[in-house]
Amino acid sequence: RTYLDYNASAPLRPAAREAVLAALDAPGNASSVHAEGRRARTIIEGAREQVAALVGATPSEVVFTSGATEANNCVMAAGWAAICVADIEHDSVLAPARASGAEIIKLPVSTDGVVGLAAAREALAEAVSRHQDARRVLLSVMMANNETGVIQPVAKAGNMARDLGIQFHVDAVQGVGRLPFQFSDIGADTLTISAHKLGGPRGVGALIVGDGNNLPALVRGGGQERRRRGGTENVAGIAGFGAAAAEVQRECERSSERLQVLRDMLEAGVMRETPAAVIIGRNVARIANTSCIAMPGKPSETLVIRMDLDGIAISSGAACTSGKIGENTVLAAMGLDASITGSAVRVSLGAGTTDDDVTAFLAAWKKAAGGTALAA
Ligand code: PMP
Repeated sequence: RTYLDYNASAPLRPAAREAVLAALDAPGNASSVHAEGRRARTIIEGAREQVAALVGATPSEVVFTSGATEANNCVMAAGWAAICVADIEHDSVLAPARASGAEIIKLPVSTDGVVGLAAAREALAEAVSRHQDARRVLLSVMMANNETGVIQPVAKAGNMARDLGIQFHVDAVQGVGRLPFQFSDIGADTLTISAHKLGGPRGVGALIVGDGNNLPALVRGGGQERRRRGGTENVAGIAGFGAAAAEVQRECERSSERLQVLRDMLEAGVMRETPAAVIIGRNVARIANTSCIAMPGKPSETLVIRMDLDGIAISSGAACTSGKIGENTVLAAMGLDASITGSAVRVSLGAGTTDDDVTAFLAAWKKAAGGTALAA
């Protein structure tokens, strides 16, 4: 099999697996005072340092959660008067933002998939004066889009938020390990990451919360994570997260260079085999591992199924929303035509991807996407 769906979930790294197994075998509750409890605490605090180092935060700013979905929910549920977001954000930002009762200010998106900050500035300034409290207005911008890989102007957004005195959240799930950044440099008040996109285990993530920020807890009771997230910690998950973070930090730059070469090879091959294909976001900066390809006339689901039958795992739409067959909401938010949104697939590479995977992909792609239009 050729696995090219790293943006949905990356295979577990051997170092993460080892850390998970070692922690699973260590008994004890990290809140207990005995030796077993202290051992669990040591595992958690070691991982906290590794995760903090990866994102350029201090360990005290790392709050472990059940994943990025919980971390995003925690931020969106914090009682904002207004939240400014683009429709290309992940559902784990959009759904809780919409359910929060806050006024939603729409951040526009270009057809290349980049958010337009300047256009939202006036609406944000108005919201600040209407609500008479800049600190209850939130701007949320993802670091890189999960479908297109398009890099968003988060540092600029951070500057704008600072100028306006409003709060700023970054969903960095698809950016971390792929783009160099420091939490302290991008002007974010909060930032979300997920272990399983880095080769850590599924079901664990972190919310980075700047020291001194009084963001309320979403999960209460027990007072763990400095009262920011109650519940006995997922020690094994956290240990695996830390081990993956440490490896990713060492590899980041080299890995992006390598993946860029493979992605360029893949896209050149696609254009050679199927010249009618459209590569989304090709004109703007993208993370190195992601390619979003539309093949007008060939429904996305059919392409994904045909590729799967040929041993290639790719996706159409975010895995979390792709239970529903239908339009790709990210591409629709970019204003792209239904012939594109309905025929797009996402190919995402990662640490285990080789030249042979690209060759296998192209052979299957030629069969699945070549020739005349498919019936749905
Ligand atoms: N944000 C983005 C941009 C994502 O791609 C994902 C994963 N699909 C999430 C949030 C949710 O992460 P998790 O699986 O850890 O809940």
